[in-house]
Amino acid sequence: MQAMVYEGAGPTLVLQSRAIPTPARGEVLVAIAACGVCRTDLHLVDGELPNPMLPVIPGHEIVGRVVAHGPEVHTPPIGARVGIPWLASTCGECACCRSGRENLCAHAAFTGYQRDGGYAEFATADARFVFPLPERYDDVHAAPLLCAGLIGYRAYAMAGDASPLGLYGFGAAAHLIAQVALAQGRTVFAFTRPGDTAGQAFARTIGVHWAGGSDERPPAAMEAALIFAPAGALVPQALAHTARGGTVICAGIHMSDIPSFPYRLLWEERVLRSVANLTRQDAQAFLELAATIPLQVRVEPHPLPAANLALERLRAGHVEGAAVLTMAR
Ligand SMILES: [Zn+2]
Ligand SMILES: [Zn+2]
Repeated sequence: MQAMVYEGAGPTLVLQSRAIPTPARGEVLVAIAACGVCRTDLHLVDGELPNPMLPVIPGHEIVGRVVAHGPEVHTPPIGARVGIPWLASTCGECACCRSGRENLCAHAAFTGYQRDGGYAEFATADARFVFPLPERYDDVHAAPLLCAGLIGYRAYAMAGDASPLGLYGFGAAAHLIAQVALAQGRTVFAFTRPGDTAGQAFARTIGVHWAGGSDERPPAAMEAALIFAPAGALVPQALAHTARGGTVICAGIHMSDIPSFPYRLLWEERVLRSVANLTRQDAQAFLELAATIPLQVRVEPHPLPAANLALERLRAGHVEGAAVLTMAR
């Protein structure tokens, strides 16, 4: 099979020919149709994530079909369309796993990081960690649901019923979560890089109530803000526009250092927190929601061998919505 591989040096992936993997006990083999390109993949190739498996095939927004079962696997059946997300496995025994917080399992493994992911024509996955996908989305449009959607939704759920809701970084996650929030009647403000008028226009096409630069003041104080961009400087900026008792949620796996800020920005019971990974419960909840809300998933498809181009376009802020790699069949 063809695979784009990160060997551990430099931000560039290498096209390799690899043997199709054999599913181990409890695993399925999936023929991949599409795989989303996530900002986390950029952090991986930039060496910003500790202890990756090397070499590793990135990619954790995988859509494909089950083509083989490892020993002791009966479901999902051969031919079933499934999604493979970031959470690849957990220990099932630690205090976090036993209390519904498997996203925090210290022994968890993650797709495209600690095991091979979806920048390839095939991947194996633990059969207990793959999900059926809503029919209304084709393969390419379903891929961004698997991280931008799922982890974005976990962050969104942490905000309770907050409105107005601010979204910092209007990329793959925000353009989906904005639609969920709007469908649920929230007021949504979108923040882009200062001067990114194209990004602000894109946010308005989604229907947000206001779009502007991250250095601008929104028309009202926000009850919650979700920060999807990896820039720590956004934290005090978001707090400054958050209402009393409001919450600022950092949704990325990596962020540049947060500058110091005056205590008055946190005072009045504002809450600052992060969101890490996802649970299988999050995946089920979001995919059920995505089946009922017709999300307009904006994608920029690239063939698998163009993964480096897709990553560079994401880095430059040129992708409207989500970049997705497609596999030739
Ligand atoms: Zn991701
Ligand atoms: Zn655990």
